[in-house]
Amino acid sequence: MTITTHATLGAVIGASTGNIWIAFLIGFASHFLIDIIPHGDRELYEGHKTKTAVKRAYRFVTIDALVAVIVLALMFGLSPHQGMNAVIAAGVIGSVLPDLIVGIHEAWNPKKLDLFSKIHFFFHNMISDRIGDVRLRNALIGQAVFIIALQKFF
Ligand SMILES: [Zn+2]
Repeated sequence: MTITTHATLGAVIGASTGNIWIAFLIGFASHFLIDIIPHGDRELYEGHKTKTAVKRAYRFVTIDALVAVIVLALMFGLSPHQGMNAVIAAGVIGSVLPDLIVGIHEAWNPKKLDLFSKIHFFFHNMISDRIGDVRLRNALIGQAVFIIALQKFF
């Protein structure tokens, strides 16, 4: 999923738990669970991995990160949950942390993160390995709808 989708779900989880550690842990677990749903980024990742479309992957991640910052800034700015910024932030941090760890693994390849990366991609590719991936365009539309729908629970 996009960083924006993970972070938005993490914010909703944070607001609904009310406890920093529970928010962080459920946010962290949510990352793996929603990554199971095929979401169109396998081709993007392959292009990065095989160095055939590295710039495309960087452009995608850069735009996704900036959209995530804007969406989260708006959610925090317009939040009806006064005094819950820390717990909402914990949900956001937990929900995006797995991709940060995978990004560190991709960039610097520390052996200590091999197992974590394997676990991440076990969930990430669980369904798409069997039935194939969806089109990225359709996945992004679906995620935009999900992000908007999540606002009802924030
Ligand atoms: Zn991920």
